[in-house]
Amino acid sequence: MKKQIAILGSTGSIGTQALQVIEEHPDLYEAYALTAHNKVDLLIQQARKFMPEAVVIVNEEKYPRLREALSDLPIKVYAGEEALCQIVESAPIHLVLTAMVGYAGLRPTINAIRAGKAIALANKETLVVAGELINNLANQYHIPILPVDSEHSAVFQCLAGEMGNPVEKVILTASGGPFRAYTLEQLRTVTKEQALHHPNWSMGAKITIDSASMMNKGFEVMEAKWLFGVRPDQIEVVVHPQSVIHSMVQFQDSAIKAQLGMPDMRLPIQYAFSYPDRVKSSFERLDFSKCTNLTFEQPDTKRFRNLALAYEALRQAGNMPCIVNAANEMVVAAFLRDEISFLGMSEVIEQTMRKVGHIRIPTYEDYVATDAEARRKALELIGRNRY
Ligand code: NAD
Ligand code: MG
Repeated sequence: MKKQIAILGSTGSIGTQALQVIEEHPDLYEAYALTAHNKVDLLIQQARKFMPEAVVIVNEEKYPRLREALSDLPIKVYAGEEALCQIVESAPIHLVLTAMVGYAGLRPTINAIRAGKAIALANKETLVVAGELINNLANQYHIPILPVDSEHSAVFQCLAGEMGNPVEKVILTASGGPFRAYTLEQLRTVTKEQALHHPNWSMGAKITIDSASMMNKGFEVMEAKWLFGVRPDQIEVVVHPQSVIHSMVQFQDSAIKAQLGMPDMRLPIQYAFSYPDRVKSSFERLDFSKCTNLTFEQPDTKRFRNLALAYEALRQAGNMPCIVNAANEMVVAAFLRDEISFLGMSEVIEQTMRKVGHIRIPTYEDYVATDAEARRKALELIGRNRY
């Protein structure tokens, strides 16, 4: 039987690559549902090609166009956030790939877990915001959360066959982004055009800015904590500009296992689909005659304060990571509108962390309220135009 997959965010960078994986294995996988926020034309094209059971467009203004364009096909067409949250519960779905961006991933992921669906998790913000809640739910419903983030997929692959062997350390690699070698002075004036130009990966705008500011790595530290049950002091970040080693695990006998390959998100996506099996792929193979120089550096948290802020949020726990995520979403959007400087982003995040009340053991409702309040506070700070 083919695995029925719902792709939340099918028009994005991860979503489109997930469809390539499905296309390569029509005997194994089928797109049951495709969802998008705005890109209705691409969603129409995808629906006509992959013939899912259902499509959802979150922006309701685009619904008439979507319905009209698919009216000759037996595809159910829905619109709105509520529809997105409901579609994941459809009985035939085996696996939900969460490939939308930001906080919006939280509610559909919770619904999918409650409906007993395996989760292939690309949307790291879900674990950043509410890692404990998601873990508890996944345990309660016996749901696997399969990492799609390349670093976490690498760790997950290193852990295969190591059941019961304690992990001493998880070592996440970071490319360092486009500004790895910039001085603090140079960072003051970098533009969004420069920040959007990642050296090794082609990704959506939000995660590309997060990569340039190292917030992405901070989020991945949090993600690692929840996925692998390690303490923050067991998670190390090492800058590895070539992005050949995707991450590593150190065991208590000092052995380190690493997963290597070309920087290609289709592998971690496919592994999440095929786990525990591996299936043949046409992806480019790593050629060691071309990669002769693998280097490693320590991350610099003076120039990239977001990484330090993320560790601090993890230490404070509770709703603090949720505050950081909300503030980060606001500053990244502002940076993309040229309303805040690159370094100003960390300033606003740090200030927002101080201004929103800390809750040690938040409920779902606390997360919702925290997210809203942190967004308000961050927006106020951005509006003062001092950053
Ligand atoms: P993207 O911007 O390219 O695509 C985002 C997708 O989400 C689009 O299909 C869009 O329609 C949908 N979307 C956006 N806002 C939405 C909302 N409010 N509600 C519902 N759907 C919405 O982003 P991406 O680069 O594909 O990243 C997606 C997620 O995967 C992010 O959480 C990112 O951190 C994570 N991730 C991406 C990569 C990568 O290589 N792109 C790697 C690791 C992790
Ligand atoms: Mg990553």
